[in-house]
Amino acid sequence: MPPALLALLLHSAVAVPADDAVLVDIREASAADVAALKQADGVRWWVELGDRLMLAGDPPPRFPVSAAVPVLGHFTDVRPGELVLRGVGCDVGESVPGTLVARGGRWQLRRLGAGDAMPAAHGHDESWRVVEPNEVVARQYRLDAPLAAPPDPEILPVVQQVDAARWFAGLSQLASWDRSSYGTTSLFAARDWIGEQFADLGLEVEKPDFAMPGPGGGTITRQNVIGRWTGTTHPDEWIVVGAHYDSRNASLGSTVSAPGAEDNASGCAGVIEMARALVPFHPQRTILFMCYAGEEQNLYGSTRHVQALQASGDIAKVMQVVTMDMIGYSADERLDADYESYASQQGYLDRFGAAAATYVPELHVTYSLNPFGSDHMPYLRAGKETVLAIESDWDIYPYYHKSSDTPANIGPNVLGMGGAILRTNVAVVADLAGARADLDRVFEDGFDG
Ligand SMILES: [Zn+2]
Repeated sequence: MPPALLALLLHSAVAVPADDAVLVDIREASAADVAALKQADGVRWWVELGDRLMLAGDPPPRFPVSAAVPVLGHFTDVRPGELVLRGVGCDVGESVPGTLVARGGRWQLRRLGAGDAMPAAHGHDESWRVVEPNEVVARQYRLDAPLAAPPDPEILPVVQQVDAARWFAGLSQLASWDRSSYGTTSLFAARDWIGEQFADLGLEVEKPDFAMPGPGGGTITRQNVIGRWTGTTHPDEWIVVGAHYDSRNASLGSTVSAPGAEDNASGCAGVIEMARALVPFHPQRTILFMCYAGEEQNLYGSTRHVQALQASGDIAKVMQVVTMDMIGYSADERLDADYESYASQQGYLDRFGAAAATYVPELHVTYSLNPFGSDHMPYLRAGKETVLAIESDWDIYPYYHKSSDTPANIGPNVLGMGGAILRTNVAVVADLAGARADLDRVFEDGFDG
C-alpha cells in the first residue's frame, strides 16, 4: 500500500485491517541491515525511533533473525490508529493512556487499548499524535556517518579545556539553591552567582528583566543572565549558548525544594563550563552565554529573549544556537545523547554527530527530529539554526521534577555523560565561533588557559 494512502487511512474513521508487528533493537545494526529490514518480506510499514525499529505487515514481517538485530517483542492485531507517539512532557504523576512499546528521540511509541483515547496536547511540552507510516522519529547518527575525521589540531586543545569535575562542582553549587521559577531569594542568589562566573571570565554581564505570569495571577519579574563575549573580528555574527536555571517540583506552582540538579543545573553549569573552555581562546565571533529563567512555566525566559532580539533587530546577527536541558544522567554506562532540531536542519545537526565521532567517540548521538518543549523552540520558530542537546535517559530519570533531583542522585555516570556532551558542544562552537588554539603561540610559550 502506498504510504500516502495508508496515511489517509490512518486518519480516517473507516476500519482498516490489523497488522502484526515486530519490534527490533537496531543499536548494533548497520545501515544496510536497517534498510534491508524495512524491505523484508511482509513489511508494509515501519517506524524508526533511534535504536528501535517497529516493522508491521500482514502476514507478519519475516526476516533473518541475527545477533545484530535482536527481536524485542511481537504485537498482534495492531490497528494503525492504536499506535501513537507521545512527546514526553512534565506530566509526573498523571496516568498515561496505552502501553509503552518503545522510546527514542524524546518520544514514546505507545499502543492504545480499547477505551483509551489519545489526549489532546496540553501545555508547552507534551504532544500526542498518531504514527505516520514509514516515519523516522529519531535516527542514530552512526547509520549515516562517514568515517570520523581526524581531530583539528587547533580545536582539540579547546575541547581538552572541558573539565567535567569543575562542571559538576558548578552543578552542585546551583543545586544547593531552591531555584523554583516562582521563588525569590534563593533563585536570585543562583542568578547572581551565574553572573559572577561570567564576570570572572571577563564577559560583559547583563540581567535583563522580563515579565511572566505569577503563580496566583498577576505578573512577576524575573531575569535572564547573559554573559557576552564580543567577537574579535566578527562582532556582528553571534552564537547563542543557553540553558535554563530555574527549576520546579512535581507541582508546577510549588515553591519548595526544587534543587533541579539534573533539570537543569546540569545544563546551566554546562553553559558556564563551555564559556570557561572557549573564552580563553578569544573567539572571533560573538558568543552570548545565557541562563534563562521561567522555562518550566512556558519557556518565558528564552521566548522573551528572542522577542527582545527581534525588537532590536539583533536577531539577524544570530547565526547558530545551542541549548542544553538535562545533560548529566545516564541509566547505564553506555553514553547516549539526543540532538534535537527540525529535519530541515540536517546540516547543522551533522556538525554535532561529526564532532562526537571525532572528539568524543564514546558518545552515541541520535537525532531527534520532532522538536518540542525546551528553550530551543523560540529560536527554531524564529528560523534560526538551533539544537537542543539532552541525554537520552532523561525521561526515565527517577528524580525528574522531584525534591530528590540532587547531585548525588544523578548517579555514577554523571561525569562521563556531562563531559561527553560538553566536549561535543565545545568542539562545534569552537569551530563556529572561531575559537582556535594559536599553535605557534602554544609552541613558543605554552598555553595556560
Ligand atoms: Zn529543563
